[in-house]
Amino acid sequence: MASTPELQHTVGKTASFSGTALHTGEKVTLKLHPAPADHGIKFKRKDLQDEPTIDAKIENLKTVERATTIGEGSVRVHTVEHILAALWAMGVDNAIVEMDANEPPIGDGSGQVYVDLIKKAGVTVQEAPQKFFDVRETMHVESKTGALLVLLADDKFRISCTQAGPNNQFAQFLSMEVTPAIFEREIAPARTFVYYEDVEPLMEKNLIKGGSLENAIVVRGEAVLSKEPLRFRDEFVRHKILDIIGDLALVGRRIRGHVVAVKPGHAANAELARALAREQTRRSAMSAPRAIPIGDSGLDTGEVMKILPHRYPFLMVDRVIGFEGENKITAIKSITINEPFFQGHFPGHPVMPGVMQVEAMAQVASILLFKLTKTSSRVGYFMSADEVKFRKPVFPGDTIFIHAELTRARGNRMAKTKCYCVVNDAVVSEGELMFTFLEK
Ligand SMILES: [Zn+2]
Repeated sequence: MASTPELQHTVGKTASFSGTALHTGEKVTLKLHPAPADHGIKFKRKDLQDEPTIDAKIENLKTVERATTIGEGSVRVHTVEHILAALWAMGVDNAIVEMDANEPPIGDGSGQVYVDLIKKAGVTVQEAPQKFFDVRETMHVESKTGALLVLLADDKFRISCTQAGPNNQFAQFLSMEVTPAIFEREIAPARTFVYYEDVEPLMEKNLIKGGSLENAIVVRGEAVLSKEPLRFRDEFVRHKILDIIGDLALVGRRIRGHVVAVKPGHAANAELARALAREQTRRSAMSAPRAIPIGDSGLDTGEVMKILPHRYPFLMVDRVIGFEGENKITAIKSITINEPFFQGHFPGHPVMPGVMQVEAMAQVASILLFKLTKTSSRVGYFMSADEVKFRKPVFPGDTIFIHAELTRARGNRMAKTKCYCVVNDAVVSEGELMFTFLEK
């Protein structure tokens, strides 16, 4: 269906279907709408006031128990992995998934209903090029539960998956390239399978009111229970592949690489998706502008000092060299041997302290937040620094390009930023900094 694989696609027209929600057991109607290029996949909660939308992005991942849940603020959408897998594998890059409940209709527990819906809506090509993630170096994630996912370089998107139940029961293996035709034929019809011991407590608590043998295969000991016989001899591993595709779709890019998965689950899949997103941000940060502009697009030292209260020896920003949209900023700090910290860090061996790089990131992020809130009555306080890593030493003579990107904002109260310090095209340090806003 995706006839022009290098360009973005959306659905041709709105199409809808209704069914049962797995967790509440209530009827839900899902409408798939076309969306413009670079829009991505967004879920819309038609049943809530103001009809909020949630980006199908890994930053919005909330929980991975049994199914994948995304959310923004207090709004949630559950069990998104099967429809995301179908959209992604059938070549749809941009769409609005509108629902009048907090999860899509479960269908028969496979990806089949969503493939049918996409075919009903049609797939149409758009002007913009698709965005790719090319695997350059082998990546992997491992979990305590025994899941292992390795991502290797490849010019196609491939998955090789081994699934095994308790005591290696139902051990199955399958390897394939993921194309729309292969997905539709080999993967989409594979249904969810659950172990009786896992669902029994949920049934007792009435947490899966919509669950039945019509939308899941139940494994009890040696027995395989379902309304309809197995659709494939190795249906379980096929469904695992469906889930991997759906979870990796949260990266928001087409992957050129080979996923080798052993006993995968939503938690490990999501962790790999996070690692890809992190690597993508790192790559974007490294394509730093080499020429340093002055004037309109950035802020000179005087303008920086109007925003930041910091002064010598604690002002860690020389100049802002540019903003990209509302959410990104790049600034520079030139490090000379005259920096006061070099006197003691260390005598005869000057290395910039890592904490000063974190301070530089915090100051640059503050400038971005100041621009965003457009008010001087509130001041941002540094709340936390997570995932801080120091990768390379910074020496006198280095020019640090400091990148900050707003990754999450909660109204005028809280903001999270991802920051990088880059020297000579290499990331020297990075961190996730969180700020809260208070009245002055
Ligand atoms: Zn699934």
